[in-house]
Amino acid sequence: MVDPLLSDEPARVAALERLGVLDTAVEQPFEKIVTLVRTVLAVPIATVTLVDRDRQWFKAKRGFDADQTPRSVSFCTHTIQQREPLIVEDADRDPRFARSPLVQGPPYVKSYAGIPLRTPEGYNVGSLCAMDTRPRRFSPADIAILSNFASIVCDELELRLVAQVDQLTGALTRRGFVEQAEREIARARRNGRFGTLVMIDLDHFKSVNDTHGHAAGDQVLRTISEIISATLRPSDVFGRLGGEEFAVLLPETTGDDAQFVIERLRQAIAAYPITINGSANIHITASFGLAYFTSATTSFESWLKQADAMLYEAKAAGRNCMRVAEYH
Ligand code: GH3
Ligand code: MG
Ligand code: MG
Repeated sequence: MVDPLLSDEPARVAALERLGVLDTAVEQPFEKIVTLVRTVLAVPIATVTLVDRDRQWFKAKRGFDADQTPRSVSFCTHTIQQREPLIVEDADRDPRFARSPLVQGPPYVKSYAGIPLRTPEGYNVGSLCAMDTRPRRFSPADIAILSNFASIVCDELELRLVAQVDQLTGALTRRGFVEQAEREIARARRNGRFGTLVMIDLDHFKSVNDTHGHAAGDQVLRTISEIISATLRPSDVFGRLGGEEFAVLLPETTGDDAQFVIERLRQAIAAYPITINGSANIHITASFGLAYFTSATTSFESWLKQADAMLYEAKAAGRNCMRVAEYH
């Protein structure tokens, strides 16, 4: 039977990107699983592999040095094309893999068992793999165990997503935002192209709740989030840090360019008539604190503190405006 989800590569890659797991740091649940796979199946190599557009990237690995390899040489690119496990008992005798550098050179993979990692929507984003440096059989019990571990990996991928995306607004949670911001800082330090951190706090939001009720307040938070998302570029990072407080990170954007983006956002929010309780139209404004990342910025926390101090100044200056930290 032809399964359309297995052949829709752009949708598959989009599903992988939605997980937000590529190029993230080591995380314990996945570490434990590869350790267990290695022990229980008595294999020297175990990986949680995610198959990106052109590469395979390892969320967790044991007995394997590289963080990623080209997709073309991988076993997993074949695994994700099917629903069932892919089992290769002797890679030297399999024309798909015999000439792969992973077989001919380190880590000298000679046998492989991979279980597709399937998202709830049905896309195979990667696989849980057990590999040996000699040919071997995998028993039905081995495959059953590996399949159970694969389903735990899928659950963990969902859990970390739930922890990262705010259910009310769809923005990143504080945890998700911090994680993305840390990655952005590391990237900026490598290429010297710094960005701007923006703290946003809605003005007099308490009075919305008091006047129209908490559900109306929630509706306002959703609408404002939509305006922010629609105004930003896809590469910008947007999070809800808590309550009616949001943050935006504009990568590789500072100075007048950043202020232009935020001024446009300020105006878009102030101008938008928000319909609540089916009839009343209200206007909400927000205050903004900006801080550029500089080589003097020591950590995300210090950067956030700077932006927060500017937000405080914007509030003190009468709200519905932005303040920008001095550039050192
Ligand atoms: P300011 O202009 O100084 O920021 O005033 P404010 O009223 O916006 O600030 P304050 O911090 O006093 O009030 C924030 C309010 O946001 C109080 C709290 O009940 C409300 N709030 C926090 N989280 C939520 C939420 O998830 N939903 C709703 N409806 N309200 C929330
Ligand atoms: Mg407020
Ligand atoms: Mg607040």
